[in-house]
Amino acid sequence: MAFEGLAERLQGTMKKIKGKGKVSEQDVKEMMREVRLALLEADVNFKVVKQFIKDVKERAVGQEVMESLTPGQQVVKVVNEELTQLMGGEQSKIAVAQKAPTVVMMVGLQGAGKTTTTGKLALHLRKKHNRKPLMAAADVYRPAAVQQLETLGKQLDMPVFSMGDQVSPVEIAEKAVERAKEEHNDYVLIDTAGRLHVDENLMDELENIKSAVKPDEVLLVVDAMTGQDAVNVAESFHERLGITGVVMTKLDGDTRGGAAISVKSVTGQPIKFAGTGEKTDALEPFHPERMASRILGMGDVLSLIEKAQTNVDEDKAKELERKMRSNDLTFDDFLDQLSQVKNMGPIDELLQMMPGANKMKGLKNMQVDDKQIAHIEAIVRSMTKAERDDPSLLNASRKRRIAKGSGRNIQEVNRLIKQFDEMKKMMKQMAGMQKGKKKGGFKM
Ligand code: GDP
Repeated sequence: MAFEGLAERLQGTMKKIKGKGKVSEQDVKEMMREVRLALLEADVNFKVVKQFIKDVKERAVGQEVMESLTPGQQVVKVVNEELTQLMGGEQSKIAVAQKAPTVVMMVGLQGAGKTTTTGKLALHLRKKHNRKPLMAAADVYRPAAVQQLETLGKQLDMPVFSMGDQVSPVEIAEKAVERAKEEHNDYVLIDTAGRLHVDENLMDELENIKSAVKPDEVLLVVDAMTGQDAVNVAESFHERLGITGVVMTKLDGDTRGGAAISVKSVTGQPIKFAGTGEKTDALEPFHPERMASRILGMGDVLSLIEKAQTNVDEDKAKELERKMRSNDLTFDDFLDQLSQVKNMGPIDELLQMMPGANKMKGLKNMQVDDKQIAHIEAIVRSMTKAERDDPSLLNASRKRRIAKGSGRNIQEVNRLIKQFDEMKKMMKQMAGMQKGKKKGGFKM
């Protein structure tokens, strides 16, 4: 998962200072040395690091912090706020044209995830904003790019405008906008061609498309895994073409995250979306504040709740909440939960959003895929109703019987029981968090 190393290091540093009743300039200096190294190691642009350290230092040794009752916590707050600022402060939303259709040009190098993101964005606009997008296939160079978009369109049941690969991209883009007007599509997403490197021909072509269709939004798709290269690419595209926002893809991989932190500072253009997987629903609006909180281990409960809201059956959720509070979760609920959690995305990603959850080692390695769910199901179904309701009944001979009945081995049965216990703990923690929230928000 992205940011893992950075998060670990920063959280360690913050922990040291957070509990201090008194903070000296020397303490701040030492802390900032560690923060600086952590950021550099995460591949954050060195100029960005320098400015960030300067800004935080200035504020952290200021009167407001030093003379407060909880200077340690105030310093952490300053780091959080500055990190949020660094990534753009407020969330930057996708443009909406005064007069439909809103024209969005998707640009980027080959392999960054442009075509995939075009499909993801179309789905996002339909699902979350009730829009009717038209996708346009203007990448006439990469073999089968047009076909890839058409296939995606079929898969998503989304209209695709294409004219094959023998027509100029400018003409395709213009005709696509005309078509959108005729068909009352309120967004046109133009998938343009990429190259392996930034080159003049490419930029010329993109410029021509841009001046022909005057897009409301030029979204640059960059691959977070390429680190500082992604930032350099963004800089070149912005200088030459003028972009209005960035989509940072592959943030689900184990990128160090530096690109995501630097790109706004370097180009002045915000990250608008983050790609978090290969599936078509793995696109999230980028919230700088939530991302900063996630990195600093304060959790991102808002995103978690939003995810839950779109994926979880409401009645079941209510029932589950009751059970979480009273702590009488059964194995049947566990099964239910697993399949719902599966719909929400990779579990390690969800865990990152939970304050303190990264400390639960048992959960960290828990992978949920279809095959494993089938195994877990087999194990749970081999339990009697009494055992499912009360796992404390599960002694050695019962476990053996269950292993045999489900065709799994005893270690797997034990592991599942352990995971179930961890999940119960986690749910209890979440229930506690929700209660805390009602009382007036989180304390750091
Ligand atoms: P294009 O050349 O820029 O149009 O790139 P594609 O859309 O064909 O994507 C290149 C590869 O990156 C494909 O295998 C995609 O599945 C993959 N990809 C795109 N976005 C993401 C993402 O957010 N996470 C992961 N893990 N893979 C992605």
